[in-house]
Amino acid sequence: MECLRVKLYTPTGIFKNPLSIKGIEVYPLPPYSTIIGLIYRAMGRKWNREYFQISIQGDYQAIYRDYVWFRGDSLGDKEDKLPLQVPILYSLELLVHVKAENGLLEDIERALKEPKELLFLSGGEYPVKVQEVKRVKCLEKFISEENCIKLNYNAYIQRELLENVGTSDKGILFSLSYFYKNSQKPKTYSWIDAYYFQKGTEIYGSLIFDEDNNPVFLAEPTTEELKKSEGEEYVRFYAGNWLMASACVGVLKVLENAGEDIEKYVEEKSLTLPEELWQRLPELYAEYLLKDAEHTLRASYEKEKDKSKFNPYNVIILRSLGDFYENSPFTNPALRYITKLKGVSIEDINQVKNQVKSSFIEGYEYFLSKAVETSQTCFFCHERQAKNFVDATSFTPLFASIEKRRNLFWDLIPICKECEFLLYFASAGFYRSAGKYLFVYVPDDLLETYRLNLILSTEKKIEQEKLGRVWSVVRYVLDLEKQKSSWVLQNIYFVEIEKVGNNPANIYSFHISPNLAKAIRKLIDHYPKNLQDIFSEFLFYIYTGRSLYEFLFLLLSGFIRKDSYKNLQGGTIESKIVQAGRNMKYISQNLLFFINFQEVLNMNTQKDYTNWAFWAGRELKKLYKENESTQKKLEPLTYRLLEAIRRKDKEYFIHNLIRAYLEVEKEIPYLFKEALDDKNFSMIAYAFLIGLNSEEKSKEEQANDEGENSESA
Ligand SMILES: [Zn+2]
Repeated sequence: MECLRVKLYTPTGIFKNPLSIKGIEVYPLPPYSTIIGLIYRAMGRKWNREYFQISIQGDYQAIYRDYVWFRGDSLGDKEDKLPLQVPILYSLELLVHVKAENGLLEDIERALKEPKELLFLSGGEYPVKVQEVKRVKCLEKFISEENCIKLNYNAYIQRELLENVGTSDKGILFSLSYFYKNSQKPKTYSWIDAYYFQKGTEIYGSLIFDEDNNPVFLAEPTTEELKKSEGEEYVRFYAGNWLMASACVGVLKVLENAGEDIEKYVEEKSLTLPEELWQRLPELYAEYLLKDAEHTLRASYEKEKDKSKFNPYNVIILRSLGDFYENSPFTNPALRYITKLKGVSIEDINQVKNQVKSSFIEGYEYFLSKAVETSQTCFFCHERQAKNFVDATSFTPLFASIEKRRNLFWDLIPICKECEFLLYFASAGFYRSAGKYLFVYVPDDLLETYRLNLILSTEKKIEQEKLGRVWSVVRYVLDLEKQKSSWVLQNIYFVEIEKVGNNPANIYSFHISPNLAKAIRKLIDHYPKNLQDIFSEFLFYIYTGRSLYEFLFLLLSGFIRKDSYKNLQGGTIESKIVQAGRNMKYISQNLLFFINFQEVLNMNTQKDYTNWAFWAGRELKKLYKENESTQKKLEPLTYRLLEAIRRKDKEYFIHNLIRAYLEVEKEIPYLFKEALDDKNFSMIAYAFLIGLNSEEKSKEEQANDEGENSESA
């Protein structure tokens, strides 16, 4: 057999799908459709239903996260650009094999050698370099388990191929787009289930190799619709993105509440419900929402002055679903089956609950009756026919500002009735606290996602603050580290949805980078015990990627300028940190923790300067204290140095240091001149300032400050 082998190189690549908001959804290699798109751009024409097979492998040097500016169209206000954080594959090399009938293969070969257009991979800023286009002979060989080979590249291997192939780890399942089925907008694709294996994975069985011994994993696309086989009585969902995953987690919570053994319905990323259970789901959902409703109902009935206005449906259902599904069949308070509960008597609470439940079921029937004719397949399950397009009723936060931010979405997203109803469970999947909703997404495993989100909602009282919960999930994730591939770890996300006002919502996501994991593991036990009160604020800084030097600046400002912050109020993160600084009675060496932590994040290896600068500061303080006239000058010096740090003004800092050392008739230590460059400025300046303001403490006091923190964290 002959294939065309193509080697491509691009400095940067981002591969995403229509829900890739805030970098939540990306692929470690381009999906098949991206490569097909590139081939046809090279040929200067459109795909005309030709059939061919592709194998995709590749390697990248690093993943980094960067802000990409999306242009918002028709923006009336000043905010005309929207920064989104996306993971970018840096220095990406692709090894692609194409198998097709000879005529087509010749066309592709010619086109890639002399493309008709400049070639880009989606999201990349730079053109793709075609490094090699070569015909290669391919042969099938059997490799025994003892003689297994190691993958030299990361690779996609189609699920069906794995029937004859063994691997040392189980890989990560992705559903990947292949050929498109219609070229009009919105485009719909045929999809392939493929596992992603990282390079180094051992592999054996029936394998195809090219003439240079590269394994080739040709995927076999189906151009046919994926049809359910006759008599199959299941409804299947695919948690391939955070939105669907949160909906599946919501369903699992509802089923657990109904006493179901949920594990049997989950396999990797998919949720498969027997038809009979699916039929009962609206009822089970109503029961879930109504559990513990008695107290809420009675309390809000008491509060209602005009009893004829009391509506138990709004108290239970609207309150739970309203933030996520504005104006939907389940939440629009003007709908007949909702208004009819207005003014019901609360006397028989079970009867009230039944009335709410049956209104909810009526809502479901109304929901089913609203369908649009489309010829497209559902984007979410890739198998059922779409009957609608996702809009603000099915998940408001995504679409609340769609008028302004239309560019966040490629096209309309077609959805089937089953998946659309499933989205109504997302609100049960998110953990809710003080106007914010939080969800943890693990890209390869639905049960794991479910468990992590349970941790989020069942933590003990003491850790009830939102970031405390996130923290317990982080600890759990760190424990997982050895079992999971690094791709998964780098792609665990926290999705936070914040309601701002009635309609709009902000969606944030943050992830645990390898550097952050390293810093947490190495250093978290040294977090200053006397600053427990602002541990959440500290976590906020590191999760959101803000500099701990900023954190330290606020803390030191609070300590050094106690008087100017006397009347400080407000519960912002910044003011809490300044307050904590004000409350410190003295400063000790334990504050170097923040510097060390930041420098691990910065991957700076010259951390020795921290201690040195601290002791230089301590030494200078001692010299100042020896004599009354200089003692008074210590405070103004501190102010000036803090100001220099704030301005990041290295010259001003050094100028003040030289003067300070002259004051005590010393020469400025040589190391300052040598080490105080741009890269090390913050590290050295802060460490010095901490030293200059620190006190020598007894052993006992120090032990109190610097004890182990793993428990209390
Ligand atoms: Zn669907």
